[in-house]
Amino acid sequence: MSALRKNIADMAGYVPGFQPEDAASYIKLNTNENPYPPSPRVIEAINAEVGEGLRRYPDAASRLAREEAGRLYGFDPSWIIMANGSDEVLNNLIRAFAGEGEEVAYIHPSYSYYGTLAEIQGAKVRTFGLSEAFEPQGIPERYDAKLFFLTNPNAPLGFTYSQKYIADLAGRLSGVLVVDEAYADFAEENSLELVRSLDNVVVTRTFSKSYSLAGMRLGLAIARPEVIAALNKIRDHYNLDRLAQTAAAAALSDQEYFRGCVAKIKETRAWFTAELEKIGYHVIPSSGNYVFASPPDRDGTRVYQGLYDRKILVRHFTDPKLSHGLRISIGTKEEMERTVQALVEIGPGR
Ligand SMILES: *Cc1c(COP(=O)(O)O)cnc(C)c1O
Repeated sequence: MSALRKNIADMAGYVPGFQPEDAASYIKLNTNENPYPPSPRVIEAINAEVGEGLRRYPDAASRLAREEAGRLYGFDPSWIIMANGSDEVLNNLIRAFAGEGEEVAYIHPSYSYYGTLAEIQGAKVRTFGLSEAFEPQGIPERYDAKLFFLTNPNAPLGFTYSQKYIADLAGRLSGVLVVDEAYADFAEENSLELVRSLDNVVVTRTFSKSYSLAGMRLGLAIARPEVIAALNKIRDHYNLDRLAQTAAAAALSDQEYFRGCVAKIKETRAWFTAELEKIGYHVIPSSGNYVFASPPDRDGTRVYQGLYDRKILVRHFTDPKLSHGLRISIGTKEEMERTVQALVEIGPGR
């Protein structure tokens, strides 16, 4: 199709984690979904919204959800934008800041979707690797990329950068540092203070993991009002439907339920990590709702297949920096017990 833009014709397209048709017959630990249901308040709020009112457009400003988020995080709602999944706001950040041929940077390995979004925009992609100690390598002392995406906690590896490192990095950039905090609710620290104190830091969050709402497509960004105003020009004006808006506000308002789910996942993460170490796996200490673990023979494909044969789905990346291990989402305790049992059966491979 010769009318296509060349960058679109040439690009491969992002491949999301596998969603099997008969998901219920698997232990599904491959896309970092939450094993617990959303807050009962979310279900109630959605049910209350279902009705004849759906003939009306939703609030274009997602005001109630933004007010709830503002209260929770301690920001005026003018610092918050709601998104149809955090992927939407990542995309709009690129559209706002990186023109054709301008540079968008991120760490490899991290979330490769930044690269896909930059390619669509026709922006230039530059990635920086990690040392053995997970220090980013080769970032210029003064760096003029338009956007730098830092996934913190890192996905798929699970480690975190210190807030000092993040502040230093922001100071070296003439462009914007986007801290993708998709998993920050499972970590001990976050960069919300840096959004307040530094003028080029943006934080993005998702409801897909810690709030058990991957199916609703909800995310948000926190940034200076000038940045939010720019993002508001770019997004679809009705980017969140009525059900999503009410679900977001209800989810954020039920912090007691939220904290309970996060606590259970962190507890299971610690237990699962220790069990994997007992059977000889190398596990990177994780601040997310997943662990990156490698078997003694460093053959991720073998173990992926063994688990798949036992109807346990995990994520294996063919990338040479990641193919020695697996990213395993933290499910319920029972799911993780069955996973350990399966790994024992599969064996160390040498
Ligand atoms: C899951 C994930 C996202 C996407 O979140 P959605 O809100 O579901 O679009 C963004 N960044 C990272 C690092 C993620 O793991």
